[in-house]
Amino acid sequence: MRQDEVAQLLAGADDPGLFSAAAALTRENFGTDVYLRGVVEFSNHCRNNCRYCGLRAANGHVHRYRMSVDDVLACAHLARELSIGTIVVQSGDDFSYSRDDIGRIVAGAKADSDVAVTLSLGDRPEDELAYWRDCGADRYLLKIETFDEALYARCRPGLTVADRLNRLEALRRAGYEVGSGVITDLPGMTPEILAKDLLRLADLDLDMLAVGPFVPHPDTPFGHEAPGSILTAFRAMAILRLLAPLANIPSTSALNALRDGAREQGLTVGANVLMPSLTPENVSADYAIYPGKNAFRADARARVEAAREAVRRLGLTPSTAVGGSKRRHHVG
Ligand code: SAH
Ligand code: SF4
Repeated sequence: MRQDEVAQLLAGADDPGLFSAAAALTRENFGTDVYLRGVVEFSNHCRNNCRYCGLRAANGHVHRYRMSVDDVLACAHLARELSIGTIVVQSGDDFSYSRDDIGRIVAGAKADSDVAVTLSLGDRPEDELAYWRDCGADRYLLKIETFDEALYARCRPGLTVADRLNRLEALRRAGYEVGSGVITDLPGMTPEILAKDLLRLADLDLDMLAVGPFVPHPDTPFGHEAPGSILTAFRAMAILRLLAPLANIPSTSALNALRDGAREQGLTVGANVLMPSLTPENVSADYAIYPGKNAFRADARARVEAAREAVRRLGLTPSTAVGGSKRRHHVG
């Protein structure tokens, strides 16, 4: 697809055609299966200051928490009990967890069951990424957020697109299934930037591609900016499905933060993955990347059951499979 074609679709030139083509491609490659990933948000400490994120270091209003290695492993065990094929171990960029701490989480989870382990720990050094792969980690999720240098610098002070891209390459070299993604409607993001971002993201030829709309958090510098458009996020997801038919594409919780039910709707416009939170109820509300994140106050079992029920209501099948990259099997 050319950039002007992507731009036209993003502007709404053919929503019915776009959404039905994306849904058809998804069904062709995944049938009715929707993969579930249980997310364990084990620390909300972060050394960075991303201007969009509620967990930024400068935000003094966050009640900070850290879970122990054993508590994370208890969540991994719960995933197994609930027949969830993948856990996503996520945190702010919290370097108080050493290479070996994370290694114990990965090795422990893999020893306990055949669950796939995705790490999403931010910008950790290459030697640590390689070590965790050796411990058994299967996947790593590191969103590029945007490829536009100026916008990136405005959103993630002190950090660069080049560094993030190098890390994605390091992950690939280490043998991970690699996921990345963008935030749509970041303050200052033009339609042209988003069109370019989607094409560049697809060009990376990754295993997972995520789109989340910007959700303003009141305790951040972007707190008074306009929220992202759900429709634009849906168009971006559908375009990515056309560009990357075999990629795993989650329907993100940021959609639900903007409108209840939007996350489920995303499964009808190209997404094939849902990521319910397995984070213990006593801390999950404090993982407030944006308002409305983990707003669904229930214990992890109830959250997972609600996600499965929502999938069934759409006539789709909540899969218990590990849901590894089809792209690899077909292309690799
Ligand atoms: N610290 C790690 C992982 C946790 S943040 C990292 O940054 O990679 C996970 C994701 O939350 C980020 O990649 C970003 O895309 C998303 N995010 C943060 N604040 C957001 C906001 N206000 N609106 C939408 N997405 C946001
Ligand atoms: Fe930290 Fe990630 Fe939030 Fe940035 S997006 S402040 S790195 S948790």
